Amino acid sequence: MGLFSRRKTKFVDADVLVIGGGMAGCGAAYEARHWGRDLKVVVVEKANIERSGAVAQGLYAINCYMGMQWDENQPEDHVRYARNDLMGLVREDLGYDIARHVDSTVHKFEEWGLPMMRDPETGRYQREGKWQIMIHGESYKPIVAEAARKAATEVYNRIMVTHLLMDDKKENRVAGAVGFNVRTGDFYVFRAKAVIVAAGGASHIYKPRAVGEGMGRTWYAPWSSASAYALPIEVGAKMTQMENRIVLTRFKDGYGPVGAYFLHLKTYTENAYGEEYESTWYEHTKELVGDYVDRHPVPTCLRNHAFLEELKAGRGPIRMVTKEAFQDPHKETVGWENFLGMTIGQAVVWASQDIDPKFTNPELTTSEPYVMGSHATCSGAWASGPEDYAPDEYQWGYNRMMTVDGLFGAGDTIGGTAHKFSSGSYTEGRIAAKAAVNYIKDMGKDTPQVSEDEYEGLRKEVFQPLENYQVGRNEIVAGTVSPSYLLPIQGLQRLEKIMDEYVGGISTGYMTNEPLLTRGLDLLGTLREDLEHIGAEDLHQLQRAWELKHRLIASESVTHHTLFRKETRWPGYYYRGDHMKLDDQDWHVFTLSQYDKNTGEWQMDTAPVYHIID
Ligand SMILES: Cc1cc2nc3c(=O)[nH]c(=O)nc-3n(C[C@H](O)[C@H](O)[C@H](O)COP(=O)(O)OP(=O)(O)OC[C@H]3O[C@@H](n4cnc5c(N)ncnc54)[C@H](O)[C@@H]3O)c2cc1C
Repeated sequence: MGLFSRRKTKFVDADVLVIGGGMAGCGAAYEARHWGRDLKVVVVEKANIERSGAVAQGLYAINCYMGMQWDENQPEDHVRYARNDLMGLVREDLGYDIARHVDSTVHKFEEWGLPMMRDPETGRYQREGKWQIMIHGESYKPIVAEAARKAATEVYNRIMVTHLLMDDKKENRVAGAVGFNVRTGDFYVFRAKAVIVAAGGASHIYKPRAVGEGMGRTWYAPWSSASAYALPIEVGAKMTQMENRIVLTRFKDGYGPVGAYFLHLKTYTENAYGEEYESTWYEHTKELVGDYVDRHPVPTCLRNHAFLEELKAGRGPIRMVTKEAFQDPHKETVGWENFLGMTIGQAVVWASQDIDPKFTNPELTTSEPYVMGSHATCSGAWASGPEDYAPDEYQWGYNRMMTVDGLFGAGDTIGGTAHKFSSGSYTEGRIAAKAAVNYIKDMGKDTPQVSEDEYEGLRKEVFQPLENYQVGRNEIVAGTVSPSYLLPIQGLQRLEKIMDEYVGGISTGYMTNEPLLTRGLDLLGTLREDLEHIGAEDLHQLQRAWELKHRLIASESVTHHTLFRKETRWPGYYYRGDHMKLDDQDWHVFTLSQYDKNTGEWQMDTAPVYHIID
């Protein structure tokens, strides 16, 4: 008991509580202040918003910009693009909503000091591709964070949120969140009228390619630990498209990005024998997915598919042909700078492996799967759409509100809307915050009530891993293996192995089927039981313990969704060996799930896909 009574409990009252100060969270803080001048806006972040989230290291391009001021693209075009890339299944209302506002977000970034590259001839933003514009983005995140810091009433850094709190008076209404300070160990109870979850995506739920000395390296940010999904799932929010995990083609061993190489440097890929290979797999792919293979641009998953088939045929490795482009000094500079502003590790890997892309075409690989809602994939929470645009069936409350009252989301958190990227995630944070402010204004005096029983119970639960360790370590006579607890790293590796082998990770070539998924669920269930006995040596390990618990919940959700969708909708992302073809007749639908914490049951359902744009 001593362990618990030593810890201080701190209470914070807020009108709008933003969980996660990444791109979407910063956007939410900024916009909440704009519409709610007199409201208390609180941001809580497990790292420090100055350099947190997937953009922490910087970016070299903003991947979602319409360019409406120059009539380059219209929002409808972006919806068509995202729909095509996701094999027909996107929430067009949500995507359109972001696309129509995203340019104004980017203009703000420039106003705040983000250096944008410009085309010397036209004076417009320098395009990398149809949707991407190039930036000098090493300081992208600090610039965006500065505006959020000024807008928020308070920012709490270094606090990991572990659970949402529910209203004691009204069923299915959120009332705040709890978490702990990862430096001091203080317990925090945030009481809020509206909560916006903006806690990023999920890496490290599948075994990564980088193991051994490379352990910890992933493409998506290693600290993206699935809280964005676990927090809403635990309170019964419906999720969508959780099976739509993403696999990325990236430079081998450093996960370096390929976008600028393909789009700006015009490099291309070839097999080990210097041959073009994508056309080889055209007929085969058409057999699986029909006309989707004829769409332009070819959907991301199908390009992965050709890559994987070529490897299986024994003609790997696949290489990026850089030797030609790098003869041009400008392109050579861009090629290197692309990493310096975003993934410096790739440059280091090449240096350590004696690869100079001017003389050697570097190898590519496909990554382990990630769960996220903002890239070429759309896993996440099922959210209400914009009043002026969403079909009735997609509207049950305020824009971006989940199926739990007062609980909003943005960025990687929200499902059904692919291709938002950094600028779209920020924009969605703004959209969610505006709606949250309206929700609070309409609420009047009927404010949520937090029960002491609930947060006191959670306090005990949150710090239990420290207790498990303190008690259990007495049983160890040598080494680190305990009979009564497991450590976060051990649990993480077990989770990654289960997901890898049973739920379509790298070791099975992204292949799974019903028997594998069913067995995977059994093993995840046992892991869930064992995590009751997780031990944390210190506060850092306590954070790791809670990140693992969040990853496990998201993994269960992914597995249930993958089992439910009886088709292979996105070959190249994953395959259902027992349903190898895309099935538009039965599965041109969104998958939905709802978890019941009391029974431990997952309820699966479908929702129609409405094509609003022709
Ligand atoms: C390698 C890489 C390259 C990319 N390249 C591009 C690109 O070139 N152009 C582009 O436009 N976009 C790019 N993106 C995508 C872009 O970064 C994301 O779309 C965007 O960051 C998503 O915003 P978000 O707010 O949902 O998540 P994030 O920005 O990741 O923010 C999530 C925040 O939540 C915090 N958090 C998580 N859990 C908790 C918790 N339990 N308690 C408290 N805080 C928590 C995190 O610390 C983080 O600050 C790239 C992403 C990656 C990883």
